[in-house]
Amino acid sequence: MLSVRAMSNEPTQIEGPPAIIELPGGESITVPLPPGEVPAYAVLPALRALVDAMMQRVKNASAERGETITCRAGCGACCRQYVPISDMEARALAALVEGMPEDRQARVRARFAEAEARLREAGMWDRLTRGGRVLAREHTELVVNYFHLGIPCPFLEDEACSIHPDRPLICREYLVVSPETHCAKLERTKIKRLAAPQTSTALHVMDAAHNLENYNVFPLVAVLDWLRRHPDEPERRTAEAWINHFGLAMQARFGDSVEMVTGPPPGASEEW
Ligand code: SF4
Repeated sequence: MLSVRAMSNEPTQIEGPPAIIELPGGESITVPLPPGEVPAYAVLPALRALVDAMMQRVKNASAERGETITCRAGCGACCRQYVPISDMEARALAALVEGMPEDRQARVRARFAEAEARLREAGMWDRLTRGGRVLAREHTELVVNYFHLGIPCPFLEDEACSIHPDRPLICREYLVVSPETHCAKLERTKIKRLAAPQTSTALHVMDAAHNLENYNVFPLVAVLDWLRRHPDEPERRTAEAWINHFGLAMQARFGDSVEMVTGPPPGASEEW
């Protein structure tokens, strides 16, 4: 069962049998996977662990080059950018909000409402929330216009991420080694990001299922609205099938760079 612990420094927990996920390059991680057929968002904690392991490699390589990652709690510059979210991450974030204590939930919901009001006022809300893919030719203008509105992510508190263990994959991929002032002004040509696998894009491809060119992208600030308008039950598959679907989505997007095999670790309990 997926259990959501809102506003904890502990990540969202899954109870389930442990499984090994092998990453390309010979490394592997052991994570619990939920049993039975589950919606895709139920495997997000496992995907987050997998992505964190991939990003750790990127960080290690960067450290070996003598670089210093400038991202830190207290710098929320990137948390005012357009943060594209997939359907499955929207469901996970909405569940996280739903599970928050009442007073905290009210504050977070108020921030979502404020963000919506600002985007409506700017005439951007309808385009951002109609779904579909953001085409390359409109992407830059959208990102720049969004940033200039200065809308903080509803989860940003004291310039730090208040849902850090449960933050979306795209937030995990954003690793910067240039001064934070460039991020604060969105000086795109001066921001030096570490080249990292775009795992968040694979989530969109997973959502698209049969049409890789027609997936939905919408901003994090619209996830509650998105779920209100898409209350339908999501597809269910086994956790292993979802993990391997993620691997295939990575392959479809980025070539043969990712291959994953799941299975129980040696000596794992049979009682699951
Ligand atoms: S989820 Fe957290 S890291 Fe991501 S944009 Fe929001 S506050 Fe920033």
